Amino acid sequence: MTGITYFGKYEGATPKEDLGGKGVSLNMMTKAGLPVPPGFTIWTSECVYFMEHGVWSPELETRVNELIKSVEKDTGKEFGSNSNPLLLSVRSGARVSMPGMMDTVLNLGLNDEAVEGMAKKTKNPRFAYDSFRRFLQMFGDVVMGVEHAKFEKVLDAVKEVIKGYRALIQEETGKEFPQNPKLQLTMAINAVFASWNNPRAIVYRNLNHMGHNWGTAVNVQSMVYGNTGDNSGTGVGFTRDPSTGERVAFGEFLTNAQGEDVVAGIRTPFPLASMAGLSGPWPRVYEELMGIYKRLEEFYKDMVDLEFTIEDGKLYMLQARVGKRTGAAMVRIACELVDEGVIDKKTAMMRIDPPKINELLFENFDPKVSYADKVLAKGLPASPGAAVGQIVFEAEAAVEAKAEKRATILCRPETSPEDIAGMDAAIGVLTARGGLSSHAAVVARGMGKCCVAGCGECRIDEEAGIMTIGGKTFKEGDFISLNGSTGEVIEGKVPTIKPEISGHFGRIMNWSNEFKTLQIRTNADTPEDTKVAVEFGAEGIGLCRTEHMFFQADKISAIREMILAADAKARKVALDKVLPLQQIDFEGIFEALEGRPCTVRLLDPPLHEFLPHDDENQTAMAKQIGCEVEEIKAKVHELSESNPMLGFRGCRLGMIYPEISEMQVTALTQAAIAVEKKGIKVRPEIMIPVVCLPAEVKVLRKVICDRVDAVMEKAGVKIPYQVGTMIELPAACLQADKIAEHAEFFSFGTNDLTQTTLGISRDDAGRFVPTYVRNGHFDRDPFSEIHEETVGELIKIAVTKGRSVRKGMKISLCGEQSSQKSVLFLHKAGLSVVSASPYRIPALRVAAAQAAI
Ligand code: ADP
Ligand code: MG
Ligand code: MG
Repeated sequence: MTGITYFGKYEGATPKEDLGGKGVSLNMMTKAGLPVPPGFTIWTSECVYFMEHGVWSPELETRVNELIKSVEKDTGKEFGSNSNPLLLSVRSGARVSMPGMMDTVLNLGLNDEAVEGMAKKTKNPRFAYDSFRRFLQMFGDVVMGVEHAKFEKVLDAVKEVIKGYRALIQEETGKEFPQNPKLQLTMAINAVFASWNNPRAIVYRNLNHMGHNWGTAVNVQSMVYGNTGDNSGTGVGFTRDPSTGERVAFGEFLTNAQGEDVVAGIRTPFPLASMAGLSGPWPRVYEELMGIYKRLEEFYKDMVDLEFTIEDGKLYMLQARVGKRTGAAMVRIACELVDEGVIDKKTAMMRIDPPKINELLFENFDPKVSYADKVLAKGLPASPGAAVGQIVFEAEAAVEAKAEKRATILCRPETSPEDIAGMDAAIGVLTARGGLSSHAAVVARGMGKCCVAGCGECRIDEEAGIMTIGGKTFKEGDFISLNGSTGEVIEGKVPTIKPEISGHFGRIMNWSNEFKTLQIRTNADTPEDTKVAVEFGAEGIGLCRTEHMFFQADKISAIREMILAADAKARKVALDKVLPLQQIDFEGIFEALEGRPCTVRLLDPPLHEFLPHDDENQTAMAKQIGCEVEEIKAKVHELSESNPMLGFRGCRLGMIYPEISEMQVTALTQAAIAVEKKGIKVRPEIMIPVVCLPAEVKVLRKVICDRVDAVMEKAGVKIPYQVGTMIELPAACLQADKIAEHAEFFSFGTNDLTQTTLGISRDDAGRFVPTYVRNGHFDRDPFSEIHEETVGELIKIAVTKGRSVRKGMKISLCGEQSSQKSVLFLHKAGLSVVSASPYRIPALRVAAAQAAI
């Protein structure tokens, strides 16, 4: 069956997949009786067919012609007529909206004769020629491939422009502009099909993890004209404020304008509210529009983003969709829709995009520091947040700076889809032109990036590489700050502070706790990180890496002495120096946890990591600990390994040097005792890393328990504790039942488990994994999301085997693979705990709630 339907007539079960988002809205609004110019949608399946076969599917042409007849009937105009021409728009529309990615052609059907006919019929030659000019430009650009910018240079009297445009198309492509409307339509449909694979679209899909094989639908629609005069216009709107989420009608429009004028940032548009105050038909149009805002929210039960055009005082709807929003707006809208009784809490929770939660954790300007005297200018508050960074004028410069870990503010006259990679790399975006619906604003909000748009006082001279603003001149590399909530552009660096969980964000976080069953813990090895994580809702520490503590200056020399020690006795002397220092660290962490459990991993990395590898540092170290430099060189040589990742590390260290493990658990137990004495509960869980054999757990468990019990007995205190293992080798998964006989809990270390399962070294993956991802061989980097087919299978085996021996045992995951999809997988696999670094906790709580809903 040919995939094509007239607006309002779709009856299938998978509207989004078939019609794309835009097609769904045109179909739905037509059905609901809203004013939509008639047209039809060619399904995505036709695009897929075209991409595979290079031609249209057999019946498509006939069906297109039939539906054109229906449009002619409904509009009373005729496609290809010179006296009363029906003009069409040809619009792309994928399943998921891709702002600015796919190109649209307006006014299709015009040619040398039809434009005269239209001029005569409307008695408005300026409008007819202006429409033709726009058509030539879009058709030349989108369909025939003439660079858009080249058209901009030809502006003159409109008629001259048309001649110029046609000459330009001929010159650039060697082809005549096609006068035949049918041929124009075929070419335009094909161009939309093909635009699915234009490089910008591919970059966008990669950035957003969208399927490359979905294809785009094509909407062919009769034109309405916002450019016939002052009673006409075009605009875009949101039913709520997409920056803050506040329930106010939001929008912008331009009179006597068409198509992309509002979003292109060429003319700065008017705010919607001002429409009510204009003369003529505008107050009535405003009222009508407000009615439609209300109805659209009723349909979508969400904040809606809409596009409209007014032709001679008559309002037409051209598109609606669930609107993109900032993280702040996301939580506010979700809460308020629940309060308004529109959706329930579960639905609200499912609307939260966990990565977007991270925007709410961005730093904000410190309210105690006034920067009023440093404000250079004020633009539009296009996307909230605070950004402090160095000025760059080009997208590539922002990308380069990001690689060097420098924060930048991308400053552009206006942005276009070519700038997306740079916007992604920059931490803030400033544009001189364009409104709240401009490309820069829409994309920045989607990315959760701070943006000030349409800052008219800002003059950017790209060629000279300078920007003047507020009477001052800045060059690339100078620091400025942006306040995306007020639109202020500020000289220099404004101090920032950490955010807190309150208001709507706090409510969403509380609701997460109502639904989630997974416990969420943090990975932390300092009291500071622990405190931050607890504020973000961590329910304990899932992984405390003890080696990080050793790298601090006061400990590293004692550790080095320990490594260089000739025998067990000398080693013990050195370890005794480390012990009190490690104990202090543990005390700080236990206190910060305020009674929450703490999984502590015994020393993991190979010992040579603690030794200096170059002459200079080896000499310094020899001096410091009073030995010959040769001794150090010899030890480094002795400890060097061909494959350290698979070498003498983890529990293997404790098997050979049990005194290291003994020192660590002594420090930990003494710390626990000291903190409990202060009245703070401590719940230590001691974890043995890199286990491959049950025997390792058996032996080390005895070493650990003997020592912990001895220390407690000596102090006359009893604190409950557990001993468990990391499960991070396939061998451990396969023998998890035998390991569980000696281990009270498991924790999957998915970094090592991924390395050893896939045989891909995490440190060398960068050479080829990104290409695998780009080509779709991996869905995502397996170090950022659990590879379910392999690593996931091993996890399931280990859970089943472990719990077959120890019913209901606590099983955690402490890798950083805590994406929404991984959390759902872990929830289903029956894990008890997931832990990640502090700033990931809030998003993880939401993902855990969603997994449980
Ligand atoms: P995008 O996917 O980039 O939003 P659209 O297909 O929505 O592209 O087209 C861009 C703009 O073109 C619309 O916002 C609208 O202003 C204008 N447009 C599209 N179709 C029509 C039409 N039939 N009549 C008038 N204007 C149209
Ligand atoms: Mg649109
Ligand atoms: Mg590990």
